[in-house]
Amino acid sequence: MSLEKKLSLQDLSEKEFSFLAERGYPSFRAGQVFLASRQFRSYAEMNIPSDLKKELSEEFYDRSLTVIKVLTGKDGTEKYLYRLNDGNIVEGVFMPHNYGNTICISTQVGCRMGCAFCASTLNGLVRNLTKGEMLGEVLAVNALKGGSLKKRAITNVVLMGSGEPLDNYENVTEFLRLLSEKNGLNVSLRNVSLSTCGLVEGIRRLADDDLPVTLTVSLHSPYDEKRDVLMPVNRKYPIAEVVKAAKYYFEKTGRRIIFEYTLIKGENSSPADAEKLAAVTRGLNCHVNLIMLNPVKERNLKRVDKDTLKAFTDTLNRLGVSNTLRRSMGNDIEGACGQLRNKYLEEQQKSEDK
Ligand code: SAH
Repeated sequence: MSLEKKLSLQDLSEKEFSFLAERGYPSFRAGQVFLASRQFRSYAEMNIPSDLKKELSEEFYDRSLTVIKVLTGKDGTEKYLYRLNDGNIVEGVFMPHNYGNTICISTQVGCRMGCAFCASTLNGLVRNLTKGEMLGEVLAVNALKGGSLKKRAITNVVLMGSGEPLDNYENVTEFLRLLSEKNGLNVSLRNVSLSTCGLVEGIRRLADDDLPVTLTVSLHSPYDEKRDVLMPVNRKYPIAEVVKAAKYYFEKTGRRIIFEYTLIKGENSSPADAEKLAAVTRGLNCHVNLIMLNPVKERNLKRVDKDTLKAFTDTLNRLGVSNTLRRSMGNDIEGACGQLRNKYLEEQQKSEDK
Protein backbone atom coordinates (compact mmCIF):
# COMPACT_ATOMS: atom_id res chain seq x y z
CA MET A 1 0.00 0.00 0.00
CA SER A 2 1.20 3.47 -0.81
CA LEU A 3 2.11 5.71 2.12
CA GLU A 4 0.29 8.58 0.44
CA LYS A 5 -3.06 9.17 2.06
CA LYS A 6 -6.00 8.17 -0.08
CA LEU A 7 -7.68 11.27 -1.46
CA SER A 8 -11.40 11.84 -1.87
CA LEU A 9 -13.21 13.14 -4.96
CA GLN A 10 -13.71 16.43 -3.12
CA ASP A 11 -9.93 16.95 -3.15
CA LEU A 12 -10.00 17.31 -6.94
CA SER A 13 -10.78 20.54 -8.76
CA GLU A 14 -13.09 20.51 -11.76
CA LYS A 15 -10.07 20.64 -14.07
CA GLU A 16 -8.38 17.72 -12.36
CA PHE A 17 -11.24 15.40 -13.29
CA SER A 18 -9.95 15.56 -16.88
CA PHE A 19 -7.68 12.63 -16.02
CA LEU A 20 -10.72 10.48 -16.87
CA ALA A 21 -10.58 11.56 -20.52
CA GLU A 22 -6.85 10.82 -20.55
CA ARG A 23 -7.68 7.29 -19.43
CA GLY A 24 -10.01 6.85 -22.37
CA TYR A 25 -13.40 7.51 -20.80
CA PRO A 26 -15.83 9.57 -22.90
CA SER A 27 -15.40 13.28 -22.36
CA PHE A 28 -18.71 13.80 -20.51
CA ARG A 29 -17.69 11.42 -17.70
CA ALA A 30 -15.32 13.92 -16.10
CA GLY A 31 -18.06 16.51 -15.72
CA GLN A 32 -20.53 13.93 -14.52
CA VAL A 33 -18.29 12.61 -11.75
CA PHE A 34 -17.28 16.16 -10.80
CA LEU A 35 -20.94 17.17 -10.34
CA ALA A 36 -21.76 13.99 -8.42
CA SER A 37 -18.83 14.66 -6.08
CA ARG A 38 -20.17 18.15 -5.35
CA GLN A 39 -23.65 16.78 -4.76
CA PHE A 40 -21.88 14.55 -2.24
CA ARG A 41 -23.18 11.36 -3.84
CA SER A 42 -21.80 7.97 -2.93
CA TYR A 43 -20.48 5.70 -5.69
CA ALA A 44 -23.65 3.64 -5.30
CA GLU A 45 -25.70 6.74 -6.12
CA MET A 46 -23.69 7.60 -9.24
CA ASN A 47 -25.03 6.67 -12.63
CA ILE A 48 -21.70 5.49 -14.08
CA PRO A 49 -20.41 2.14 -15.40
CA SER A 50 -19.29 -0.36 -12.78
CA ASP A 51 -15.72 -0.62 -14.14
CA LEU A 52 -15.34 3.14 -13.67
CA LYS A 53 -16.78 2.90 -10.15
CA LYS A 54 -14.29 0.19 -9.33
CA GLU A 55 -11.36 2.11 -10.75
CA LEU A 56 -12.33 5.33 -8.97
CA SER A 57 -13.01 3.68 -5.63
CA GLU A 58 -9.54 2.13 -5.57
CA GLU A 59 -7.99 5.58 -5.77
CA PHE A 60 -10.50 7.93 -4.17
CA TYR A 61 -13.11 7.93 -1.44
CA ASP A 62 -16.46 9.06 -2.84
CA ARG A 63 -16.92 11.27 0.22
CA SER A 64 -14.29 12.89 2.43
CA LEU A 65 -16.38 12.47 5.59
CA THR A 66 -19.61 11.13 7.05
CA VAL A 67 -22.13 12.99 9.19
CA ILE A 68 -22.54 10.90 12.34
CA LYS A 69 -24.69 13.17 14.49
CA VAL A 70 -26.96 16.18 14.10
CA LEU A 71 -28.17 18.23 17.07
CA THR A 72 -30.91 20.79 16.52
CA GLY A 73 -31.14 23.85 18.78
CA LYS A 74 -34.26 25.80 19.65
CA ASP A 75 -33.20 28.71 17.45
CA GLY A 76 -32.85 26.56 14.31
CA THR A 77 -29.11 26.17 14.71
CA GLU A 78 -27.84 22.70 13.90
CA LYS A 79 -24.63 21.21 15.10
CA TYR A 80 -22.98 18.53 12.96
CA LEU A 81 -20.46 15.94 14.01
CA TYR A 82 -18.43 14.60 11.11
CA ARG A 83 -16.26 11.48 11.02
CA LEU A 84 -13.27 11.79 8.71
CA ASN A 85 -12.11 8.71 6.80
CA ASP A 86 -9.24 8.14 9.26
CA GLY A 87 -11.66 8.13 12.20
CA ASN A 88 -10.97 11.66 13.46
CA ILE A 89 -13.97 13.73 14.50
CA VAL A 90 -14.67 17.40 13.73
CA GLU A 91 -17.71 19.60 14.07
CA GLY A 92 -19.59 22.28 12.17
CA VAL A 93 -22.60 24.50 12.79
CA PHE A 94 -25.47 25.39 10.45
CA MET A 95 -27.14 28.72 11.12
CA PRO A 96 -30.26 29.81 9.26
CA HIS A 97 -30.46 33.55 8.54
CA ASN A 98 -32.97 35.60 6.61
CA TYR A 99 -30.31 36.61 4.06
CA GLY A 100 -29.20 33.01 3.48
CA ASN A 101 -27.83 30.09 5.42
CA THR A 102 -24.40 30.02 6.98
CA ILE A 103 -22.21 27.09 7.84
CA CYS A 104 -19.37 27.39 10.31
CA ILE A 105 -16.66 24.84 9.57
CA SER A 106 -13.55 23.49 11.29
CA THR A 107 -10.15 23.82 9.63
CA GLN A 108 -8.09 21.52 11.87
CA VAL A 109 -8.65 18.53 14.14
CA GLY A 110 -7.97 20.25 17.46
CA CYS A 111 -5.81 23.38 17.61
CA ARG A 112 -2.39 24.35 18.93
CA MET A 113 -3.01 28.02 19.66
CA GLY A 114 -3.85 27.50 23.34
CA CYS A 115 -6.47 30.24 23.86
CA ALA A 116 -7.55 30.21 27.51
CA PHE A 117 -11.31 30.22 26.89
CA CYS A 118 -11.55 27.81 23.96
CA ALA A 119 -12.56 24.15 24.00
CA SER A 120 -10.91 23.26 20.67
CA THR A 121 -7.38 23.61 21.95
CA LEU A 122 -7.73 21.61 25.18
CA ASN A 123 -6.01 18.54 23.71
CA GLY A 124 -3.78 20.29 21.22
CA LEU A 125 -3.55 19.84 17.48
CA VAL A 126 -4.14 16.40 15.96
CA ARG A 127 -3.78 17.31 12.29
CA ASN A 128 -4.71 19.73 9.54
CA LEU A 129 -7.86 19.16 7.54
CA THR A 130 -7.41 18.69 3.80
CA LYS A 131 -9.16 20.90 1.27
CA GLY A 132 -11.49 18.01 0.40
CA GLU A 133 -12.45 17.53 4.05
CA MET A 134 -13.30 21.22 4.46
CA LEU A 135 -15.30 21.16 1.24
CA GLY A 136 -17.01 18.00 2.51
CA GLU A 137 -18.19 19.80 5.65
CA VAL A 138 -20.06 22.25 3.43
CA LEU A 139 -21.26 19.79 0.77
CA ALA A 140 -22.56 17.23 3.25
CA VAL A 141 -24.82 19.76 4.94
CA ASN A 142 -25.88 21.33 1.64
CA ALA A 143 -27.01 17.88 0.48
CA LEU A 144 -28.69 16.98 3.78
CA LYS A 145 -30.64 20.24 3.73
CA GLY A 146 -31.96 19.38 0.29
CA GLY A 147 -29.74 21.86 -1.55
CA SER A 148 -28.36 21.26 -5.01
CA LEU A 149 -25.70 23.08 -7.00
CA LYS A 150 -28.32 25.26 -8.69
CA LYS A 151 -30.35 25.94 -5.59
CA ARG A 152 -27.93 25.98 -2.71
CA ALA A 153 -29.01 25.41 0.87
CA ILE A 154 -25.82 27.17 1.97
CA THR A 155 -24.76 30.59 0.74
CA ASN A 156 -22.30 31.74 3.40
CA VAL A 157 -19.34 30.02 4.98
CA VAL A 158 -17.41 31.07 8.06
CA LEU A 159 -14.09 29.53 9.05
CA MET A 160 -14.77 29.85 12.76
CA GLY A 161 -15.02 26.28 13.97
CA SER A 162 -12.15 24.33 15.51
CA GLY A 163 -8.66 25.14 14.36
CA GLU A 164 -6.66 28.13 13.20
CA PRO A 165 -7.19 28.57 9.44
CA LEU A 166 -3.95 30.45 8.86
CA ASP A 167 -2.02 27.64 10.60
CA ASN A 168 -3.25 25.44 7.70
CA TYR A 169 -2.71 28.02 4.98
CA GLU A 170 -2.25 25.89 1.85
CA ASN A 171 -5.23 23.62 2.43
CA VAL A 172 -7.48 26.47 3.47
CA THR A 173 -6.74 28.63 0.44
CA GLU A 174 -7.09 25.67 -1.91
CA PHE A 175 -10.39 24.87 -0.22
CA LEU A 176 -11.55 28.45 -0.87
CA ARG A 177 -10.77 27.99 -4.56
CA LEU A 178 -12.79 24.76 -4.67
CA LEU A 179 -15.67 26.32 -2.76
CA SER A 180 -15.95 29.16 -5.25
CA GLU A 181 -15.64 27.09 -8.46
CA LYS A 182 -18.27 28.36 -10.90
CA ASN A 183 -19.62 24.90 -11.76
CA GLY A 184 -19.24 23.64 -8.20
CA LEU A 185 -21.04 25.08 -5.18
CA ASN A 186 -20.05 28.54 -6.48
CA VAL A 187 -20.00 30.28 -3.10
CA SER A 188 -18.81 33.85 -3.57
CA LEU A 189 -15.70 34.53 -1.52
CA ARG A 190 -17.40 37.77 -0.50
CA ASN A 191 -19.72 35.53 1.49
CA VAL A 192 -16.87 33.85 3.31
CA SER A 193 -15.34 34.99 6.61
CA LEU A 194 -12.00 33.71 7.79
CA SER A 195 -11.33 34.11 11.48
CA THR A 196 -7.77 34.16 12.80
CA CYS A 197 -6.15 34.52 16.20
CA GLY A 198 -3.74 36.91 14.48
CA LEU A 199 -1.01 35.04 12.57
CA VAL A 200 0.62 38.06 11.00
CA GLU A 201 2.47 36.40 8.10
CA GLY A 202 -0.69 34.52 7.15
CA ILE A 203 -2.77 37.72 7.13
CA ARG A 204 -0.26 39.40 4.81
CA ARG A 205 -0.07 36.38 2.57
CA LEU A 206 -3.85 36.21 2.31
CA ALA A 207 -3.95 39.89 1.38
CA ASP A 208 -1.46 39.23 -1.44
CA ASP A 209 -3.23 36.07 -2.64
CA ASP A 210 -6.25 37.88 -3.97
CA LEU A 211 -8.92 35.83 -2.20
CA PRO A 212 -11.45 38.51 -1.22
CA VAL A 213 -12.79 36.94 1.98
CA THR A 214 -13.77 38.97 5.03
CA LEU A 215 -10.94 38.89 7.51
CA THR A 216 -12.00 38.49 11.11
CA VAL A 217 -9.36 38.93 13.78
CA SER A 218 -9.86 37.62 17.31
CA LEU A 219 -8.63 40.34 19.65
CA HIS A 220 -10.27 39.73 23.03
CA SER A 221 -8.09 42.31 24.82
CA PRO A 222 -6.48 45.60 23.82
CA TYR A 223 -3.60 45.10 26.30
CA ASP A 224 -0.61 42.94 25.41
CA GLU A 225 -0.10 41.76 29.02
CA LYS A 226 -3.69 40.49 29.19
CA ARG A 227 -3.80 39.17 25.62
CA ASP A 228 -0.56 37.23 26.31
CA VAL A 229 -2.53 35.27 28.91
CA LEU A 230 -5.84 34.88 27.07
CA MET A 231 -4.17 34.15 23.73
CA PRO A 232 -0.58 32.89 24.04
CA VAL A 233 -0.07 33.59 20.31
CA ASN A 234 0.16 37.24 21.34
CA ARG A 235 3.67 36.62 22.68
CA LYS A 236 4.76 36.01 19.12
CA TYR A 237 2.48 38.52 17.39
CA PRO A 238 1.63 41.43 19.71
CA ILE A 239 -1.39 43.64 19.15
CA ALA A 240 0.39 46.43 17.26
CA GLU A 241 1.72 43.93 14.69
CA VAL A 242 -1.68 42.31 14.27
CA VAL A 243 -3.38 45.67 13.76
CA LYS A 244 -0.70 46.66 11.24
CA ALA A 245 -1.30 43.45 9.28
CA ALA A 246 -5.07 44.06 9.42
CA LYS A 247 -4.48 47.55 8.02
CA TYR A 248 -2.44 46.00 5.21
CA TYR A 249 -5.29 43.58 4.51
CA PHE A 250 -7.73 46.46 4.26
CA GLU A 251 -5.44 48.47 1.97
CA LYS A 252 -4.90 45.52 -0.36
CA THR A 253 -8.49 44.21 -0.49
CA GLY A 254 -10.67 47.19 0.41
CA ARG A 255 -12.55 44.92 2.76
CA ARG A 256 -13.49 46.14 6.20
CA ILE A 257 -11.83 44.25 9.03
CA ILE A 258 -13.93 42.62 11.73
CA PHE A 259 -12.50 42.27 15.22
CA GLU A 260 -13.98 39.62 17.45
CA TYR A 261 -14.11 40.41 21.10
CA THR A 262 -15.42 37.83 23.54
CA LEU A 263 -16.43 39.49 26.80
CA ILE A 264 -15.12 37.62 29.82
CA LYS A 265 -16.02 38.63 33.36
CA GLY A 266 -13.24 40.51 35.14
CA GLU A 267 -10.75 39.96 32.29
CA ASN A 268 -11.42 42.34 29.41
CA SER A 269 -14.78 44.00 29.86
CA SER A 270 -14.41 47.24 31.84
CA PRO A 271 -15.09 50.69 30.34
CA ALA A 272 -11.31 51.26 30.46
CA ASP A 273 -10.84 48.16 28.28
CA ALA A 274 -13.40 49.59 25.85
CA GLU A 275 -11.53 52.90 25.75
CA LYS A 276 -8.26 51.16 25.05
CA LEU A 277 -9.95 49.03 22.39
CA ALA A 278 -11.13 52.22 20.69
CA ALA A 279 -7.57 53.61 20.82
CA VAL A 280 -6.00 50.44 19.44
CA THR A 281 -8.38 50.25 16.47
CA ARG A 282 -8.48 53.98 15.72
CA GLY A 283 -7.84 54.90 12.09
CA LEU A 284 -8.67 51.42 10.84
CA ASN A 285 -11.83 50.76 8.83
CA CYS A 286 -13.21 48.10 11.11
CA HIS A 287 -16.15 46.76 13.04
CA VAL A 288 -16.13 45.10 16.44
CA ASN A 289 -18.15 41.95 16.89
CA LEU A 290 -18.84 41.43 20.58
CA ILE A 291 -19.41 37.86 21.70
CA MET A 292 -20.76 36.60 24.99
CA LEU A 293 -18.47 33.93 26.38
CA ASN A 294 -19.74 30.42 25.95
CA PRO A 295 -18.33 29.01 29.20
CA VAL A 296 -16.30 25.84 28.74
CA LYS A 297 -16.57 23.47 31.68
CA GLU A 298 -12.80 22.85 31.83
CA ARG A 299 -12.11 26.57 32.32
CA ASN A 300 -13.10 28.84 35.16
CA LEU A 301 -14.15 31.83 33.06
CA LYS A 302 -17.52 33.53 33.26
CA ARG A 303 -19.86 35.67 31.22
CA VAL A 304 -20.40 39.34 31.92
CA ASP A 305 -23.75 40.60 33.23
CA LYS A 306 -26.08 42.96 31.34
CA ASP A 307 -24.85 46.11 33.07
CA THR A 308 -21.21 45.37 32.28
CA LEU A 309 -22.12 44.70 28.67
CA LYS A 310 -24.06 47.96 28.49
CA ALA A 311 -21.25 50.02 29.99
CA PHE A 312 -18.82 48.45 27.52
CA THR A 313 -20.97 49.10 24.44
CA ASP A 314 -21.89 52.62 25.67
CA THR A 315 -18.19 53.44 25.82
CA LEU A 316 -17.56 52.06 22.34
CA ASN A 317 -20.54 53.99 20.96
CA ARG A 318 -19.43 57.22 22.62
CA LEU A 319 -16.00 56.81 21.02
CA GLY A 320 -17.47 56.05 17.61
CA VAL A 321 -16.43 52.41 17.39
CA SER A 322 -18.82 50.50 15.14
CA ASN A 323 -19.93 47.42 17.07
CA THR A 324 -22.64 44.80 17.39
CA LEU A 325 -23.30 42.02 19.82
CA ARG A 326 -23.24 38.74 17.99
CA ARG A 327 -26.43 36.81 18.42
CA SER A 328 -25.35 33.85 20.46
CA MET A 329 -26.63 30.77 18.71
CA GLY A 330 -26.85 27.18 19.68
CA ASN A 331 -26.14 27.63 23.39
CA ASP A 332 -28.36 24.69 24.20
CA ILE A 333 -26.39 22.36 21.93
CA GLU A 334 -22.76 22.84 22.99
CA GLY A 335 -22.37 25.78 20.62
CA ALA A 336 -18.79 26.78 21.45
CA CYS A 337 -16.29 25.37 19.01
CA GLY A 338 -14.80 22.11 20.10
CA GLN A 339 -17.32 21.41 22.86
CA LEU A 340 -19.36 18.86 21.00
CA ARG A 341 -16.34 16.98 19.74
CA ASN A 342 -14.85 16.88 23.25
CA LYS A 343 -18.10 15.56 24.68
CA TYR A 344 -18.32 12.90 21.99
CA LEU A 345 -14.70 11.80 22.57
CA GLU A 346 -15.28 11.63 26.32
CA GLU A 347 -18.33 9.46 25.83
CA GLN A 348 -16.40 7.17 23.48
CA GLN A 349 -13.62 6.92 26.06
CA LYS A 350 -16.11 6.07 28.83
CA SER A 351 -17.76 3.33 26.79
CA GLU A 352 -14.33 1.87 25.96
CA ASP A 353 -13.35 1.91 29.67
CA LYS A 354 -16.44 -0.10 30.64
N1 SAH B 1 -8.77 30.16 15.28
C1 SAH B 1 -9.71 31.14 14.81
C2 SAH B 1 -11.12 30.60 14.76
C3 SAH B 1 -11.61 30.30 16.13
S1 SAH B 1 -13.27 30.24 16.58
C4 SAH B 1 -9.62 32.37 15.69
O1 SAH B 1 -8.94 32.33 16.70
O2 SAH B 1 -10.23 33.38 15.34
C5 SAH B 1 -14.04 31.74 16.27
C6 SAH B 1 -14.16 32.71 17.45
O3 SAH B 1 -14.75 32.14 18.61
C7 SAH B 1 -12.81 33.27 17.87
O4 SAH B 1 -12.92 34.66 18.03
C8 SAH B 1 -12.60 32.59 19.19
O5 SAH B 1 -11.68 33.31 19.97
C9 SAH B 1 -14.00 32.56 19.74
N2 SAH B 1 -14.21 31.59 20.84
C10 SAH B 1 -13.58 30.42 21.07
N3 SAH B 1 -14.07 29.82 22.16
C11 SAH B 1 -15.04 30.60 22.63
C12 SAH B 1 -15.93 30.53 23.74
N4 SAH B 1 -15.88 29.49 24.58
N5 SAH B 1 -16.82 31.53 23.92
C13 SAH B 1 -16.88 32.57 23.07
N6 SAH B 1 -16.08 32.71 22.01
C14 SAH B 1 -15.15 31.74 21.78
